Amino acid sequence: MIKTQIPEIKALLNTPKNIVIVPHRNPDGDAMGSTLGLYHYLKLYHHNAVVIAPNDYPDFLKWLPGDDTVLKFESQVEESTALIEKADLIFTLDFNAFHRVGNDMAEVLESSSAIKVMIDHHQQPDDYAQFTYSDVTMSSTCEMVYNFIEMLGDENKIDETIATCLYVGIMTDTGSFRFPATTRRTHQIIGNLIDKGANNSQIHNNIYDNNSFSRLQLLGRAMQNLKVIPELRTAYITLTQDELDEFNFKKGDTEGFVNYALSLEGIIFGAIFIESKQDDIIKISLRSKGDFSVNELSRAHFNGGGHTNAAGGRSDDDMTTTINKFISILPQYKEDLSPTQSRS
Ligand code: 5GP
Ligand code: MN
Repeated sequence: MIKTQIPEIKALLNTPKNIVIVPHRNPDGDAMGSTLGLYHYLKLYHHNAVVIAPNDYPDFLKWLPGDDTVLKFESQVEESTALIEKADLIFTLDFNAFHRVGNDMAEVLESSSAIKVMIDHHQQPDDYAQFTYSDVTMSSTCEMVYNFIEMLGDENKIDETIATCLYVGIMTDTGSFRFPATTRRTHQIIGNLIDKGANNSQIHNNIYDNNSFSRLQLLGRAMQNLKVIPELRTAYITLTQDELDEFNFKKGDTEGFVNYALSLEGIIFGAIFIESKQDDIIKISLRSKGDFSVNELSRAHFNGGGHTNAAGGRSDDDMTTTINKFISILPQYKEDLSPTQSRS
């Protein structure tokens, strides 16, 4: 556990170091908030720090302070590789295994001799890091970065910039403070971040009230495609590449769509299947309520994982085959998914 190792990390951070900070591929609010929050903190100590994202992220995150300093490995391979090779320290944030950054970047990370620090809240973390701060009960990696800074004795150094970044990840990963991992402590940290200058109302606005017309139209199509299997309390959505093209799809446009499936009365398992012609896969997002573990379902059938109530995965089959497979595996989970008739 990291607490006993804090003096060692503190000693490492005592002199300026070359530091690379990495979020997972297709970074979300928590991935970018945590990496940029940590970046601004390390900058206070004059480290030569840089965030290298495996690939690009949605526009609704592009206003984050420090966004202009972020490198994207996919489009800046040489520069990124050079920085990783000369790094003394590499922080990997919001993911639990190297392959989550994509194969090309994973190779470069694996062959780096830098000291690794993992801060993450996903289940079943790999053990590649010398320092692993992993806690699956945490609402978000941003909450953990707050704890990390506090453990280093620097809670008072969190300024408006850091607070803004950390607020974003806690907000997005908790579905605006509503998912079960949201605790009293989460709210207390959020309160502290507001005290430090995070403009909560503006942040919600920047993230959630930035819809393009075409994104809302795409949402309309997704809702028309919604299918319900009431006897297994399951609902799912499909979007083909043709449909994405029709509505001028941009990265991030489908973020949150899957939650509409889960918002249906009586539904405890929601899924969305999104075709990507570019990657030649169907990208799958799974969400659940209660004890039904979409992490386990995704690990068992869809090459993915995540958390009990939120996981991702992929399928190399076409849409029809993928949906047929999905429907065919559901009965295996009948015990969890069938409506309970006063089961004792
Ligand atoms: P999303 O559906 O939003 O892509 O992902 C939901 C959650 O599952 C996020 O916390 C995400 O990091 C995680 N996740 C998504 N895809 C994978 C995957 O392939 N493997 C693992 N371990 N976690 C994933
Ligand atoms: Mn997260």
